[in-house]
Amino acid sequence: MDDTIAALATAPGKGAIAIIRMSGSKSLPVLEKIFSTGQAVKDIHDSLMTLGRIVYPDSGQTLDEVLVTIFRNPRSFTGEDVVEISCHGGPAVIREILNLLFENGVRLADPGEFTKRAFINGKMDLLQAEAVADIIESQTRYSLKQSQNQMFGRLSKRLLLLKQTLKKQLSLLEVELDFSEEDIEFVSRKELKESIHLLIDQVEELLKSFKFGKVIREGARLVLVGRPNVGKSSILNRLVEEDRAIVTAEPGTTRDLIEEAIDIDGVYFKVTDTAGLRLTEDKVEKIGVTKAKNVLSTADIIALIVESGETLTAEDETALKILQSVNNQAVLFLLINKIDLQKNKIKMINDAMFKRSLEISAKTGEGFTDLKQALVGLVVGSNIQSDFAFINKARHSDALRRAKAALTHAENSLREELSSEFVSLDVREALDALGELTGEVTTDEILNDIFSSFCIGK
Ligand code: GDP
Repeated sequence: MDDTIAALATAPGKGAIAIIRMSGSKSLPVLEKIFSTGQAVKDIHDSLMTLGRIVYPDSGQTLDEVLVTIFRNPRSFTGEDVVEISCHGGPAVIREILNLLFENGVRLADPGEFTKRAFINGKMDLLQAEAVADIIESQTRYSLKQSQNQMFGRLSKRLLLLKQTLKKQLSLLEVELDFSEEDIEFVSRKELKESIHLLIDQVEELLKSFKFGKVIREGARLVLVGRPNVGKSSILNRLVEEDRAIVTAEPGTTRDLIEEAIDIDGVYFKVTDTAGLRLTEDKVEKIGVTKAKNVLSTADIIALIVESGETLTAEDETALKILQSVNNQAVLFLLINKIDLQKNKIKMINDAMFKRSLEISAKTGEGFTDLKQALVGLVVGSNIQSDFAFINKARHSDALRRAKAALTHAENSLREELSSEFVSLDVREALDALGELTGEVTTDEILNDIFSSFCIGK
């Protein structure tokens, strides 16, 4: 933390400009040495860009013409003295300027170190620090919105209310402990029970938001299944063509699976075409079935595709049976494709199995507006309209689960009329678990875990 750090803040590679960021107590003295402009560094205004040249201090030769912005502590991202150098965005320029900084006692920042310093210096809590990384990772409108809500403290505020209630209870219980000989109740047991019950409900509500938060952040998995030639890959292609393909998709799980990440109306979908994988009970195809089962088990939505005018075959029925045995959580869609050829309705064996059935044509695009609306509707539902704060990481749900367990324990202790000592222990544990989320309670391990996944320069 005493070191002054620097790193390229913009993406590596060639660009019109690049920004090099430096943070720490040496930032201004180092700048004084290498920046040539009409005024001394101490006279440069905060947060305003100043045109000048980066020069080699020994020779006075110009390295690059740049714009420099100073953010003096504590009014900076990290809470330290920060200098941003906007230079020409070429690899040699960037390397030379960074080297110049390193020669003057500055070191390369670790991954996420700027944000970590911002957290340690109290500029943001841990949830907000995580949200900074999420904003950069966001690929779709909804995931961006979710990350911004978190960065602006929506989740933190919600947790703050829970923590305040717990702290109040804890202090009363602790006062009670101090006067334990006198047997005074500083807080009515009835009120305490009610309040803890309410807290459990609120923690539960947040825990429930994990499913939605995670899907928005990581994408909803849509798996297309059906006999060969029903049009699975044509449907996938049309979705990719009409919507924005997300380039940094996860690599496909197997060679037989074609996976595309698509932004459909602001929602991230990972669409898998199980081309080459047939769902059959035939032993020879068993390997394929195992692969299909693996991908199906993680699906949020499964679409069974059939051809218009045809009835469900024995193969379809087997597929359906397998689908349900593998994943009974996923929403089942029936897509009747190729309606441009035939308009006869398919005779369904069991309509009730499917949440929706839609008639489409991958060839003409008919029905795709409804299809996309239905897909987005399934994921988003009424969630996004509300002001509700979501959790979206395993770390969050883990801490909340521990908070809930401790509160349930406290509730039981109260029911059994155990002494306030037991109850206060549980309440303290719940408070600590919630404190882990925002980072009031933390360990180096937790911090390293979070910040090591950031890029250098963040
Ligand atoms: P898959 O094996 O399920 O992936 O099916 P494909 O997407 O490869 O499609 C098989 C054949 O059906 C191809 O010749 C497609 O051009 C054709 N096809 C796919 N969708 C439609 C459609 O909606 N209408 C018509 N007329 N043909 C389609």
